[in-house]
Amino acid sequence: ATTSGHIFDPVRHWERSDPGRIAVRFGERDRSWAELASRVRRNATAQVAAGLEPGDRVAFVDKNHPACLETTLACALTGTVNAVVNFRLAPAELAYVLNDSGARVVFAGAELLPAIEQVRDELDTVERVIVVGGEHDAYEEFLASGTDTEPGHTADPGDCFLQLYTSGTTGHPKGAMLTHRCLAAHSAAAAEAFEFTRDAVNLVAMPLFHVGGTSWALAGMSRGCETIVVREVIPEEILAQFGRDRVTHAFFVPAVFGFLLRVPGVGDHDYSSLRCLGYGGSPMPTPLLRQALDTFPVGFYQVYGMTEASGVFAVLGPGDHRATGHPERLTSAGLPVPGVEVRVTDPATGAPVADGEPGEFQLRGELVMAGYWKRPRETAETIVDGWLRTGDAGRRDEHGYLYIEDRVKDMIISGGENIYPAEVERVLVEFPGVAEAAVIGVPDERWGETVKAVLVLADGATLTEHDVVEFCRARLARYKCPSTVDVVESLPRNATGKILKRTLRAPYWEGRQRAL
Ligand code: ATP
Ligand code: MG
Repeated sequence: ATTSGHIFDPVRHWERSDPGRIAVRFGERDRSWAELASRVRRNATAQVAAGLEPGDRVAFVDKNHPACLETTLACALTGTVNAVVNFRLAPAELAYVLNDSGARVVFAGAELLPAIEQVRDELDTVERVIVVGGEHDAYEEFLASGTDTEPGHTADPGDCFLQLYTSGTTGHPKGAMLTHRCLAAHSAAAAEAFEFTRDAVNLVAMPLFHVGGTSWALAGMSRGCETIVVREVIPEEILAQFGRDRVTHAFFVPAVFGFLLRVPGVGDHDYSSLRCLGYGGSPMPTPLLRQALDTFPVGFYQVYGMTEASGVFAVLGPGDHRATGHPERLTSAGLPVPGVEVRVTDPATGAPVADGEPGEFQLRGELVMAGYWKRPRETAETIVDGWLRTGDAGRRDEHGYLYIEDRVKDMIISGGENIYPAEVERVLVEFPGVAEAAVIGVPDERWGETVKAVLVLADGATLTEHDVVEFCRARLARYKCPSTVDVVESLPRNATGKILKRTLRAPYWEGRQRAL
């Protein structure tokens, strides 16, 4: 059942060529390529024996566990689809996503079982829950019910085997259907961009329910890297693990970089094995990036990605991070990866704009998802004439570098001028005592919308609205400066840690409609 570009092909290849070498590490446990391949075949044949058919969904809900990767690869062999679900969701959200997936079987981590049981009655399609880990590890029994043979299924490159949900920053999470073709294209591009090689040790610390976890892992595996699955991020332990396990590659979202850099003695660990540190998934504050560059003397890679693109589609490589003639590139999302074309369009008309002009990023390439599961209308709005609309606003410079400004939906239109909150936020976080800043548009009689800053202060800090506004006026055009400043204890965030602008805006817009 070999199709070119089948996601199991590399596993089979490494099993044959180097069966005893370590494929996956998890805590104290190592598994060789031969063991991994065998476990995937057992999972696949057990799925068939359980009555699952091509197109059926299974779901996986747990903190990071290698069984999730095994299940994804097994789905690729049987034609089923692994819908990996965010374990941080509240029970009601969990029920929403599980019902959306239509999963017949749920693999649930022992720790997650109480949450599942709480909503068990609301789950419409789930026939069976298989507990992973803990004292009664039903997953191992499940594997034992299979055989070490490949099911006879022949996959088409366009078949979906992995369904990952968007973070739900701008609305409900949507299931992006990722196919063999998508993941093969993504793995090839990512392996080239990040230089994954057979001798690499790839730390997978981001959650497997996101592309930053699963796609990052599959890309490394495609080149025979050793994959270390980190159950959950404990900053001190990650720092120690870099040297202990001779880690070469790792990817973290900016929030996690923040945790790592705040660990006392962060500079005292052994980072000599590291070759590639990736960051991205949400905007990286420049002060944090500078601190990271000073602390870790290794190659830095900015990663611009989205679920609908199977993972990364633009990278700013190490050469553009240090001592170049272009310091402005530190705020760039980099260049499209091989096989991806990016264009910038007017969000209103869809017509391409000139280099340097702001607009919406769109991309094209084999890594673009097949569509959103059970959402034909949203799929048609998102993939237009073969181009994926990112929903992100930004510019491309004359050398092709992308600069993300903001979400199209968060852009503020004040007196006919477009304002990107991120630009204002970058200034606000430089104000002494400001720990976090979010900028939103609120209704204004005169200008339609006006700029409001919502700030979280550092411990013990105080400030006045007047001083903040003056600080901004010295650095930004007047129409971009906040007219009001709120101080709050914390900013509303989704389970991924992204700021929920729609929640911040809601009280100001009650009963009114925003233009975007
Ligand atoms: P939803 O689509 O459900 O509203 P989401 O867009 O946050 O949620 P993801 O697919 O997880 O869901 O995230 C992709 C988005 O994350 C991108 O569209 C972009 O806005 C943001 N993003 C990704 N990488 C970067 C980066 N390097 N810098 C800034 N923003 C980034
Ligand atoms: Mg999105």
